[in-house]
Amino acid sequence: MSSSARRRYGHAVVIGSSMAGLVNARVLADHFEKVTVLERDERPAGPEPRKGAPQGQHVHLLLEAGKRVLEELFPGLTRETQGSGMNVIDSSRDMAWQHFGVWKVRVPSGIESVLCTRPYLEWSVFQRVKALPQVEIRENVTVEALCTDAEKTRITGVKVKGPGGEETLEADLLVDASGRGSRSPRWLEELGYGRPEEEKIGIDLAYTSRLYKRPAGFQDDWKLLVQYPRAPEGWRAGFISHVEGDRWIVSVNGYFGDHAPTDDKGFLEFARSLPRPGLYDYIQDAEPLTAPVTHKIPTSRWLHYERLPRFPERLIVTGDAVCAFNPIFGQGMTTASLGAKLLGELLTGKEPHTPGDLNRASEQFRRKLPGIIRVPWFMTSVMDMHYPQATGTRPPGVGILHWFFGRLIELTSVDANVYHQFLRVLHMRDGLESLLQPGMALPLLAYGAKSLFVPLAERANVHRMPQA
Ligand SMILES: Cc1cc2nc3c(=O)[nH]c(=O)nc-3n(C[C@H](O)[C@H](O)[C@H](O)COP(=O)(O)OP(=O)(O)OC[C@H]3O[C@@H](n4cnc5c(N)ncnc54)[C@H](O)[C@@H]3O)c2cc1C
Repeated sequence: MSSSARRRYGHAVVIGSSMAGLVNARVLADHFEKVTVLERDERPAGPEPRKGAPQGQHVHLLLEAGKRVLEELFPGLTRETQGSGMNVIDSSRDMAWQHFGVWKVRVPSGIESVLCTRPYLEWSVFQRVKALPQVEIRENVTVEALCTDAEKTRITGVKVKGPGGEETLEADLLVDASGRGSRSPRWLEELGYGRPEEEKIGIDLAYTSRLYKRPAGFQDDWKLLVQYPRAPEGWRAGFISHVEGDRWIVSVNGYFGDHAPTDDKGFLEFARSLPRPGLYDYIQDAEPLTAPVTHKIPTSRWLHYERLPRFPERLIVTGDAVCAFNPIFGQGMTTASLGAKLLGELLTGKEPHTPGDLNRASEQFRRKLPGIIRVPWFMTSVMDMHYPQATGTRPPGVGILHWFFGRLIELTSVDANVYHQFLRVLHMRDGLESLLQPGMALPLLAYGAKSLFVPLAERANVHRMPQA
């Protein structure tokens, strides 16, 4: 939308200027005369990590569905800096991926992902949002409380604390994109709405990461190397991602308290414990540029706002504030972007508009967001539940699911069609039901039968790291 004549609402306030906050601000700028984004942090001058987004020091991949939304909202974002900034890669051809003990095939898939550091992506989006005339981004401002009408049925603004002291900001719509530490559960409880039900899977995971100079003359043909363990026997993983500045970001992680050390020797030893050939062989002689840093992820957590019997009008909770995934499948930024797209669709509606529209949009948003979260949540939680140490409620039939996904993943090492469909689901192009269509079910059944008689190393690619 370009004409301000079509902006039909007054003032929207967004809490948090990380990925979810920024993409939502961009969407709201099409519908509101003014959008104020409130950020607790002071931003670094360039694409550097910051305190309020500590995950920025660890490997990040943007899935295809997220890339599409970002390209719709910010045309040219991912292509303009191809090579020097963002790397748009083919998710199969350019990625060497050992998963569940097997190396996946590498053929062109036409499914694209984006590689760069998380601060670079956020900074690129930030520059574009900041340039929008409707948007004001205020740093060093912490949202402390919600304001409501006298009946406490509608959110009317926020109380904030900033460099100039305390102040109240009025808002026609409030978007909480303040991440995992969001105070919305507590605020809602204090207002008498109760706390949202929390679905939690305990994984005690930690990422430890550092940047390396990409070795001059590096000959291998992958841009992203990923090694995931075969559950439940293994729980260590590693990534090397080709990022801007001719650097590699290298992350290693371990579940259930088995976290990589942050000293040089310990970091390398942890990397050496991953299957070889693999990550260690690439970094053993490479030049580190930063010291290893650790980020802990005790749980995957989904707050079910849609299940609350009552909810205040004009409040949107989104991004990690609703669902913070185990990041192994890289779904957080994409889910946040799809959430922003949903909000845009709900605000678009048909003319003429009434004041009740914003009430309806916020109510529909909390009811519809789970439709976006469900598949990525299912994918990671099924994987995590493979470990007996993982805490949380196991869905009925989880053993059958593990058998199904185990064979499916093994098959991605020898059957390009099956891998392609798996990627389409992972990148949120298709739903889970697509894994059951005949083109998938028949090879899976045949492979499943084979798995009863033929050892893993003879039926799947266990040892050979494939070339594209
Ligand atoms: C180790 C790791 C690896 C990951 N890898 C991937 C990946 O490969 N791909 C992917 O898509 N996702 C990945 N993620 C997830 C991804 O980082 C998040 O899903 C994504 O950044 C969206 O987060 P968000 O904007 O909702 O919240 P956050 O990034 O947590 O941002 C919240 C913002 O709100 C601000 N804030 C908080 N409280 C207040 C307040 N009261 N007032 C004002 N401001 C406030 C904070 O300062 C911060 O800027 C990973 C996460 C981790 C931890």
